[in-house]
This record gives sequence, C-alpha cells and structure tokens, in this order.
Amino acid sequence: MEIAGQRLRAERIFINVGGQALVPPMPGITEVPYLTNSTMMDVDFLPHHLIIVGGSYIGLEFGQMYRRFGSQVTIIEMAARLVRHEDEDVSAAIKDIVEREGVEVRLNAECISLAKRGHEIIAKVDCTDGAPEVAGSHLLLAVGRRPNTDDLELDKAGVRCDERGYIVVDDQLQTTVPGIWALGDCNGKGAFTHTAYNDFEIVAANLLDHDPRPVSDRITAYALYTDPPLGRVGMTLADARSSGRRVLAGERPMTRVARAVEKGETQGFMRILVDGDSKEILGASLLGTGCDEAVHAILDLMYAKASYTVMQRAMHIHPTVSELIPTMLGELKPL
Ligand SMILES: Cc1cc2nc3c(=O)[nH]c(=O)nc-3n(C[C@H](O)[C@H](O)[C@H](O)COP(=O)(O)OP(=O)(O)OC[C@H]3O[C@@H](n4cnc5c(N)ncnc54)[C@H](O)[C@@H]3O)c2cc1C
Repeated sequence: MEIAGQRLRAERIFINVGGQALVPPMPGITEVPYLTNSTMMDVDFLPHHLIIVGGSYIGLEFGQMYRRFGSQVTIIEMAARLVRHEDEDVSAAIKDIVEREGVEVRLNAECISLAKRGHEIIAKVDCTDGAPEVAGSHLLLAVGRRPNTDDLELDKAGVRCDERGYIVVDDQLQTTVPGIWALGDCNGKGAFTHTAYNDFEIVAANLLDHDPRPVSDRITAYALYTDPPLGRVGMTLADARSSGRRVLAGERPMTRVARAVEKGETQGFMRILVDGDSKEILGASLLGTGCDEAVHAILDLMYAKASYTVMQRAMHIHPTVSELIPTMLGELKPL
C-alpha cells in the first residue's frame, strides 16, 4: 500500500473509505450551484425555496425538515412515486404526509434539466402534469451516493470492484485479495451506520474470536426519518408476493393504535408479513409514531427464526405502539 510516496506493509489491510454524494450528469448541472446530501449538513441559513431532486430517503428527510423550518420545498422525483423501493401504499402514505405539511411533490419527472435565471435556479420538469418548470432559491441533489473507490487504484493490487465501484467481498467481507477486507458503505452490502458497524462485528468475530459470522446472516433493517418515521425490516409486500411463498399479512392503521391516538399522531399504518407454512415472519413496514423503535421486536423474532405465535402470545405493555403487533398477528389474512 502506497500513500503519498510512502510504502506501508501490513499482514492485514481493512478498507473503510465510505461513500460520497452522487452528482449525475444532468443537463445544466455545471451551470447552477447545488447542495448535496453531504454539503447539506453545513447549511446554516434558511433557503427561501429549496428544490430537492430525488424523492427517496434523504430527499424526504431534508424536505420535511426544511419545510418545518419555514422554507418552501419542492421535491422532484423521476419515478412515478416517492421511495420506490417501498410498497406502493407506503409511498402514497408518505406523499400524503409531506404534502399535508405543504411540501410540493412532482413525480414522473423523467427529463430534468437545470438553469440559472437571475438569482433563481430553474428546474425544468418534463412531467405529465403540473407546471413545466420550478423556480427556487437553492437546489439539493439527493439522488444517491457512490463509493470512494475511484482514486484508490485497487486494480493494481488485484482488489476487484463491481461496475458501480463497490469493492467485491465474500461472506466474511474479504476482498478478492486474501488479507484485505472491505467494510462499510464501500462494499455495497449496506449504506447505513448500523450495517457499517455490523461489518466491523463480523470481521472482528472471524479474525479475533474465530467465530465464523457471515454477512448473509444479516436481515435488512432501516428507518426513514420522516415524522412519523417508517421502520422497515425484511421483505416488502412486493418481495413477499414474488417469493412464491404462501404469505399471510396483518395490517392496522395508526388511527387504531391507542398510543398514536393519545399522542394525536395517527398518520400511517403498520403491516406485518408471515410465511403461512413455516410461520416465520418475513418482513414488516411500520409507518407511524414510534415505529422506528417498535420494529425491533419484529427484527429480533425474525433473527431468532421463531414462529410468529411466540410474539402473538407474549403479553405486551399498554399503551404502546408495540402492543398492537400481536393483535395484527392474530388477524392475519392470505395475500
Ligand atoms: C445525509 C445523510 C443521512 C444519513 N442518515 C443515516 C441514518 O439516519 N442512519 C444510518 O444508519 N445511516 C445514515 N446515513 C448513512 C451513514 O452515514 C453511512 O452509511 C455510514 O457513515 C457509513 O460508514 P462508513 O464507515 O462506511 O463510511 P464513512 O462514515 O463515510 O467513513 C469513511 C471515512 O473514510 C474517509 N476516507 C475516504 N476516502 C479515503 C481515502 N482514500 N483514504 C483515507 N480515508 C478516506 C472519509 O473521509 C471518512 O472519514 C446517512 C448518510 C447521509 C449522507
């Protein structure tokens, strides 16, 4: 390994270089000033009208936040719905939540181009409906992130990357070169603080404790930090439908969760999915107050590969969001 002309040797090398904001080559991008999901963290003023390109997790979080600070906010998304990796009804519910607060959402923006007009930034939006362009004071690009691997010359060491620049790793996170591991956002196995930390735990367990923990053991889990938040674990409804399994689903609107009613925060709904044969929980989408915490009870049961009946029969505490998860499990219906 060579750094600034200095050659370093080690028995083991761990690459943990993270990622950076993706800036796609949109027409006009070089003509306008823009903020990214990294530089946005340094903003110490209130944009008059923030245009956000990208209606996914980071775009929605900043969009709602700046709307609540007092900015006018327009979110432009090229897909037909927000957070397209989630189920359609989840996307629709989140759109409803942010629109009620005054965030303008423009979908189907398949042909975005940017320009400067005086002090304003113009985003031309080739949408099927609505005004053909949006004029704002500031622009945030929230269209994803890419790994910090392009300047490392990893190929010289034989460390292989995939076509998107992510370092190829095996189930113990070792790269294509023995003795070199890749952890965190740069290996494409996750894009979260908790996945990066779990990578460390897996590598440390393998190397220091001779405990053969694999990354494939991990269950997908994350939250979208809008208010209310979305707590997610495992399969979506779409994943479950295409899995070929006999799937049972339980649902409940937050209007029928006592804790949400008492807090006066009844937006959203919860859904849990179960394998009708093995009785194992396949996944959950919990959109509502406290759901980023409540989802962990489901995650732990999934990790234990326990039957859903374990949770259904365990007495839960009133008044909490979690107490309604056993109720949903008692009202499962075939998809
Ligand atoms: C706006 C935003 C909000 C987020 N919110 C959440 C959230 O709510 N929950 C969550 O779990 N995750 C969230 N994330 C993602 C989370 O920040 C990352 O997944 C996490 O930081 C990844 O950790 P890492 O160790 O892989 O990389 P990083 O934390 O990015 O650390 C990599 C380090 O390597 C350094 N580096 C880069 N290149 C080199 C080089 N060539 N040589 C030496 N050093 C180098 C970098 O400067 C950096 O210090 C968010 C990300 C963004 C951008």
